[in-house]
Amino acid sequence: MVKCQVILDAMEHIAPCSLAEEWDNPGLLVGSPAQEIHKILVCLDISEPVLQHAVATGCDMILSHHPLIFHAIKKVRTDLPLGRMLQKLLANNIAVYAAHTNLDIASGGVNDVLAERIGLTELKPLEVTAEEELVKLVVYVPADYADRVRMAVMDAGAGYIGKYSCCTFNVAGKGTFLPLEGTAPFIGRQGQLENVDEVRIETILPAKLEKHVVKAMCRVHPYEEVAYDVYPLKNRGRIESLGRIGLLQKPVQPEEFAEQVRRGIGADYVRLVKAGNKCIQKVAICSGSGAEFIAKASFMGADAYVTGDVKYHDAQQAAGLGLHLVDGGHFATEFPVLESVAVRLTEALKGVRGNVEIITDRESKDFFTIVQ
Ligand SMILES: [Zn+2]
Repeated sequence: MVKCQVILDAMEHIAPCSLAEEWDNPGLLVGSPAQEIHKILVCLDISEPVLQHAVATGCDMILSHHPLIFHAIKKVRTDLPLGRMLQKLLANNIAVYAAHTNLDIASGGVNDVLAERIGLTELKPLEVTAEEELVKLVVYVPADYADRVRMAVMDAGAGYIGKYSCCTFNVAGKGTFLPLEGTAPFIGRQGQLENVDEVRIETILPAKLEKHVVKAMCRVHPYEEVAYDVYPLKNRGRIESLGRIGLLQKPVQPEEFAEQVRRGIGADYVRLVKAGNKCIQKVAICSGSGAEFIAKASFMGADAYVTGDVKYHDAQQAAGLGLHLVDGGHFATEFPVLESVAVRLTEALKGVRGNVEIITDRESKDFFTIVQ
């Protein structure tokens, strides 16, 4: 058993809530961070059967992709589905957590799992939602302490450039200072001008980590007053996006590709909008409901676009652009992420004290079935 807050912290690493779209409602929606959790059910939607499953299997937390509560609630009517489910959740002390667009966007989230199922590599962003703000940190350290301060700053999350870590630049120089009344200097004496061998260490870090990194730096820096500067930067760090664009290993025919998608996501069927006979190698994807990015996918040079919730005029638009379109269904393009979330959460909780069992909903099915 662990505190619910421990699960929230672990999920914040997997899908930070800050990545979510503005209109979204991720995070803890029912329950308290202080409640004890010993079994979690991971699902796409909270429905009556899913809730029944959670109660029957003794789960005290449900982690869903789609938020149970989306808009402000003015009534909790227990004769209507949402009120009835809230009543049952509270009566059974079941907490509810949602990771929605933040899980779509996050690295290793819904879109990355979908891309893997389809067989895409060399993934790039489709629709950029955020670019990480960066700052430069410069600190002056007595030469003997340079290694220690550098390590502390790196351990706190500074020094990443692309796939390189521990990136710093170091210059030796002379530091001067004159301790005034009321000081207790680590080097030198009050009223005496000091001249010290120092190292100027500079590195880069995400702006959101500034306080954390500075705190870690000051903890190991020997000076009473640490001399450091933080500069805003115009360069940007990590790019976050909805959807991905990547490559298949080899070009395939549209029908073959559609079947590859169907098999990959384990759907009963997919719908193909064939835009001519052009082979497919470059593929854009957006899990769930991404018809709004059809033009973007075409503009970025995709041969095909995979998404869900495609309407007639969306298909018409894709065909007009010469972009093959595969509608894999909202449900089927998102469902594969559940196993991955369960595995990653289990992994993230390995280091914490207390056992938590994580199970995945395998019973839910797409609302749509084909009648021929
Ligand atoms: Zn969805």
